[in-house]
Amino acid sequence: MLAGGRQDGRPRAVLTVDVEDWHQLAGRAVGRMGWDAPHEEFVRQVDDTLELLGELDVRATFFVLGMTARNHPGVVDRIAAEEHEIACHGWAHVRAWTQSASGFRRDVEQGLAALDRLGIPAPSGYRAPAFSLTKKTPWAFGILAELGFRYDSSHYDSPRIPGCLPAFEATPGPVIELPIAVARIRGRRLPVGGGSYWRVLPRRLIRNAVSQLAVEPGFPVLYFHPYELGRAPLRLTLPHGSGAKVRARAAWKTVRYNPGRGRVSALLTETAERLQLVSCKEALAHVELARGSTPPRRLIALTPANERSSHDRSSTVAIAGGPGAAEGQQTLEIGST
Ligand SMILES: [Zn+2]
Repeated sequence: MLAGGRQDGRPRAVLTVDVEDWHQLAGRAVGRMGWDAPHEEFVRQVDDTLELLGELDVRATFFVLGMTARNHPGVVDRIAAEEHEIACHGWAHVRAWTQSASGFRRDVEQGLAALDRLGIPAPSGYRAPAFSLTKKTPWAFGILAELGFRYDSSHYDSPRIPGCLPAFEATPGPVIELPIAVARIRGRRLPVGGGSYWRVLPRRLIRNAVSQLAVEPGFPVLYFHPYELGRAPLRLTLPHGSGAKVRARAAWKTVRYNPGRGRVSALLTETAERLQLVSCKEALAHVELARGSTPPRRLIALTPANERSSHDRSSTVAIAGGPGAAEGQQTLEIGST
């Protein structure tokens, strides 16, 4: 059964939203005084997002940032009331590869505690800030398994992510990876999963690439943010007396994040007409079903040992340290290309 109770023959893609307050994160990045205060514009952005998904009759997965949820508990309630899946985006939106293993664990636990306080005790899924589970964080997947996650959606084989895992590997343990959509065009990686790429790449290119990925085995995962789907332009207001450096950085943020925002919801609407957009939870049900028979090639495929580099092998061993690693000789190649 599909999101919204519909069932049809269209290819499927997974729709996800990273719930973080742009004003909060941008304010912190530019050194704004009082950056952590709740921003009402964020509430309007989430409302616009929920309204759009309601019109499209789509149930998505919302990866909620802990410190944003603390500021806006009502927002999380509204997302859950619309029957979307709530998942964990950690607490402070700090890239995982800048943290130690224990720091990463603390951040995720804090994110989980924030959701727990809002009546969401055990979300199934996790996404790292800025897709930052990379070659530098081989311990992350074991920690996610220990914390009880059933899936992760942090892998983005993008040229812009330093040290990203080109051929994702994990042991066939309890955590399944749902990687972000990446097309291969003339042998080059083209991230088409969402975010800034949907604001700048030609619409036809994105449309065709995502449609092509959707007819291949597995599910292309798309990701957006409320600030991309909100109607009002983004503006980082500053308190009186902010210094010249902060004002210049804030101006740059608005210049950088506003162009192309209007295209995102239009393109998403077109995509929803061609594809069934489902939540991670629903995709996971299909993946787990497939694990009992022939695994989907893109999501879970066996990687012959002789095709792995020495770096990949060491990465596999590190990840194999986590729970569920008993059949460590069978590795899963999980990539969206
Ligand atoms: Zn994020």
